[in-house]
Amino acid sequence: MIVMKFGGSSLANGERIRCVVDLVKPELPRKPVLVVSAMGDTTDHLLEAADMALKTGTVSVERIAELHKNTIRELALDMSAITPLLAELQVLLVGISLVKELTGKTRDYLVSFGERLSARMVAAYGQSMGVKAQAVDAWDGGFVSDSRFTAAELIPESWATIPEKLMPLIKGGIVPVLTGFIAKDREGAITTLGRGGSDLSATMVAAACQAEEVQVWKDVDGILTADPRIVQDARPVEAVTYEEAAELAYFGAQVLHPRAMQPCMKTKTPVWVKNSYNPGAPGTRIVAEREKMGPVLGITSRTQVTLVDIVSTRMLGQPGFLTELFADFAQYGISVDMVATSEVSVSVTLDASYNLEPLKKDLSRIAEVEIKTGKAIVTLIGDVNRSSEILHQAFGVCAALGIPVQMVSSGASKVNISFIVNDTQRAEVVQGLHKHFFGVYAS
Ligand code: ASP
Ligand code: MG
Repeated sequence: MIVMKFGGSSLANGERIRCVVDLVKPELPRKPVLVVSAMGDTTDHLLEAADMALKTGTVSVERIAELHKNTIRELALDMSAITPLLAELQVLLVGISLVKELTGKTRDYLVSFGERLSARMVAAYGQSMGVKAQAVDAWDGGFVSDSRFTAAELIPESWATIPEKLMPLIKGGIVPVLTGFIAKDREGAITTLGRGGSDLSATMVAAACQAEEVQVWKDVDGILTADPRIVQDARPVEAVTYEEAAELAYFGAQVLHPRAMQPCMKTKTPVWVKNSYNPGAPGTRIVAEREKMGPVLGITSRTQVTLVDIVSTRMLGQPGFLTELFADFAQYGISVDMVATSEVSVSVTLDASYNLEPLKKDLSRIAEVEIKTGKAIVTLIGDVNRSSEILHQAFGVCAALGIPVQMVSSGASKVNISFIVNDTQRAEVVQGLHKHFFGVYAS
């Protein structure tokens, strides 16, 4: 069997759903399981509808209902595939508007409608085209998670329950159309795996059912050497390892969910990232080991980063100082991304969304703390055996551009060299690096 995952943009409208079924048909002999995201930007629209219900008391499912109903009409399907869900959604939004409360639990229940609607539409259209498709909600497909609403993790027993539920369908000649992104906890409450989580659903199905491969269908030609919005001539990478793909995802390349590689890494299931808008393109292969390529594989970056400089002479030779320091971060629920230390200072980076004032106040008892906002992390994913060469060249590029590098981290990971620049200079740095490592003159 194989797993074919289709993201929101691959399911944006009736025309795109037709293309999806066209992609699935030739694969039928390989027994595909389909994993689908919500259509287009439905997840965002659901969250906006909830926000509106909460803040203004207005209940509006219009935008979501319209997209799905139009698509049903376009594909000449029966409205009954989605009307019960739309009605339930309406009731939920009324509930939110009355209670004026939106917990993580309710939020997850709410956004689950996106995937549940799209799975039903894709299955119904598949059936109308002669494919024995069947919509399967994640919980009926064996997906059990913990109860961390909005960012739940699948619990280990899913490895057994998923094949238990899905294999009989597959063996019966059915093509399951599984809702990505969602699950239920042990108490039966709906959870979600974090934004972009349907990638993880797909790799989990594949790993748990020992699939031959996973195809992740997106709207770009694979994993690219850089963000095409920043670098015009970014191009697809032929092959990356699971670790490289995870690093690329984590540090800003919006191709894959950061945790999506974990299941397939365990089972060494190959993952293909392909473009449903350009299916002829080879795409990117994600595997355990790849052939040697240039020193740098891809450049990614992340904006809205805050740099925190912590200076204290107490650090000098004092065991336990870092423990004390990071315990403070933990206490405020602040997750740290990069760390660099010297004898008397520690610099860390974190997401700009945290309120750091309480932490700063707390830390001031042991150190001087300076918070610098408006930073970006630029990350080179490459061959760390060649890190001297990469660092030399990358800093050469920054120097030539007159852009100071403010913090560096390299070597902790096998594949990642990251440094901090001002957010305003991010694009220029990424473009300069791309030109250097991937331009016509690059070797
Ligand atoms: N629909 C969800 C989201 O937009 C999950 C996904 O697309 O993977 O985040
Ligand atoms: Mg989506």
